[in-house]
Amino acid sequence: MSAPRCAECGSPRLVRHRVLNSLTLAHIDCDAFYATVEKRDNPDIADKPVIIGGGKRGVVSAACYISRTYGVRSAMPMFKALALCPHAVVVRPDMAKYVRVGREVRQAMLTLTPLIEPLSIDEAFLDLSGTERLHGTIAAKTLAKFASTVQRNVGITVSVGLSVNKFLAKIASDLDKPRGFAAIDQEDARTLMADRPVGFIYGVGPASQEKLSQHGFRTIKDLQRADEVELMKQYGPEGRRLWRLARGIDDRKGWRRFFGGSAKKYRPVSRAAIFRDRPSR
Ligand SMILES: [Mg+2]
Repeated sequence: MSAPRCAECGSPRLVRHRVLNSLTLAHIDCDAFYATVEKRDNPDIADKPVIIGGGKRGVVSAACYISRTYGVRSAMPMFKALALCPHAVVVRPDMAKYVRVGREVRQAMLTLTPLIEPLSIDEAFLDLSGTERLHGTIAAKTLAKFASTVQRNVGITVSVGLSVNKFLAKIASDLDKPRGFAAIDQEDARTLMADRPVGFIYGVGPASQEKLSQHGFRTIKDLQRADEVELMKQYGPEGRRLWRLARGIDDRKGWRRFFGGSAKKYRPVSRAAIFRDRPSR
């Protein structure tokens, strides 16, 4: 008997989640972006460990998934990376090319929704709420189709995280990489995050982490057990933010709209403004 396949696209990978049909907030992240683009353009290195780096900065800009199995990581000094994986193929970064490919992916995202907030050249948040009629299906299926379209048309793979807010969508896209597709809700998030250090919460740097740890907050579980009012007394508005994010509550409402050109050219806009003034692209 053959394994069950998706009735829509024939994929053997099936994603189930009790609230899958209602989730619309996505984080899309290209897999090992620079390295994947280089492998796409040079099939000879497709099955080799590839490190992008060796430019002016002597650090790893990107490591493919094969080189990661040797312990190579982004931002690692090149000498250290090559000590871990001496037979790696080192490719100089070609930023102009990555920007071009990043734009192709973004153009494809714009066919899904005008509500896109780019975080960098290769990742963005997308709000697909209200697009079911336009696409004729739920957000999860639209996103699954998007991932295979990008693979076919651009030649690279992406990972999709689907959830109820930005913080959790970003956590989800990282769960199942590469070619990932994960959906989580607040309940999953609380369990998933419990044993992570408090520094897992965005905006909690080494200094805050140290301070929190002195007060007994080492893991997210410690924050989940804490009292909201006590945390607010101790840390002010940041205490409230930590209490909420530890429970997977993130009510960031703002969306920054991308205005073309350099990746830096975006400014905050309201959701209403985006729908009033739809991009022509
Ligand atoms: Mg990425």
